[in-house]
Amino acid sequence: MSGKQETDKSDRKFWITNIQRFSVNDGPGIRTTVFLKGCPLRCAWCHNPEAINPYQEFFHNAEKCVRCGACAEACPEGAITPPRIRKKRDEFSETTYCTNPESAAARAKLEAEITETDPPKIDRDKCTFCMKCVDACKYDALTRIGRLVTVDEAYQEVKADEMFYESSGGGMSISGGEPLMQPEIALELLRRAKKDNIHTVIDTTGFAKWETLDEITDYVDLLLYDIKVIDEEKHKKWTGVSNKIILENARKLAKKGVPMRIRSLVVHNVNYWDLNYPKSVLAFAKELGQSVKGIDILPYHNFAGEKYENLGRQYAFKGFPNLFKEDVQDYEDIINSEGTFKATIGGMIGVEQNER
Ligand code: SF4
Ligand code: SF4
Repeated sequence: MSGKQETDKSDRKFWITNIQRFSVNDGPGIRTTVFLKGCPLRCAWCHNPEAINPYQEFFHNAEKCVRCGACAEACPEGAITPPRIRKKRDEFSETTYCTNPESAAARAKLEAEITETDPPKIDRDKCTFCMKCVDACKYDALTRIGRLVTVDEAYQEVKADEMFYESSGGGMSISGGEPLMQPEIALELLRRAKKDNIHTVIDTTGFAKWETLDEITDYVDLLLYDIKVIDEEKHKKWTGVSNKIILENARKLAKKGVPMRIRSLVVHNVNYWDLNYPKSVLAFAKELGQSVKGIDILPYHNFAGEKYENLGRQYAFKGFPNLFKEDVQDYEDIINSEGTFKATIGGMIGVEQNER
């Protein structure tokens, strides 16, 4: 590779939602996880809805919002309907639109008069994501999701914790979104990590061209491979895409000998109370053979509900309760019963590195 090409990759910026240090859920040991933004699937239960779109967005936190109206005034697209307020003096609760009072005294006076408010309404279809509203909000009620980084910047953050990887058997993980939506970036990070002898993990849906996976997995020590639903029609219904390519890629990866852990989420209405599901995952894992180093059963949790609200999106699982270890114990028992694979519930804390 020429020096110029190296420079081009180093300077290229890409969207991430986060770089999480000291992660213990994205592979063995202590890890730094780079969360790339963008995913081709639309899983109805998605726990990281802010990572789906491959561009910068913003959260609106209604609890922090004081209904000052500055965001609506700043929006050049007219995408924000100002907050509505009702004042004490309005005998018939006349509704007026809030304007942003310029002085602190004026703000205090307004706040004293207000009896009831509606937050601003944001029409995200009109939004061009210029972020002028976010800059105008003085109350942290609007916050950016995602930041642009170069490969150099991201990798520096990964390298900074190298000593923890050595002592814990950890390393670098790439997650998302779907990391394979930005394959050149993922590849560059992985190449650098392997050059520095850092253990590498990719958490993927496997929904990508085989050529992409084939190239990337030359630099991956362990794949966390999400098998959401085995039945194709059900998979389409809940994720928006067929799982043909996902299952086919898993077979090719197994043939190539890439170590992988199968990750299977158990979700209400999808595969909870369905003991055929762990049986079907077990049968598929057996088909893949020794490449499968274990199966992680992940019970549904509802921590993402607030994120959907803050993104102004509907959440298909709103109000559904968390599932716990005891709720999926039968799933673990079924997978462990034959002794072919070891299942875990909730991830792989304490599981050794599964290297090539
Ligand atoms: S600027 Fe911030 S605090 Fe004011 S109405 Fe908009 S979101 Fe709420
Ligand atoms: S980010 Fe969207 S809503 Fe906010 S000011 Fe820009 S166009 Fe308006």
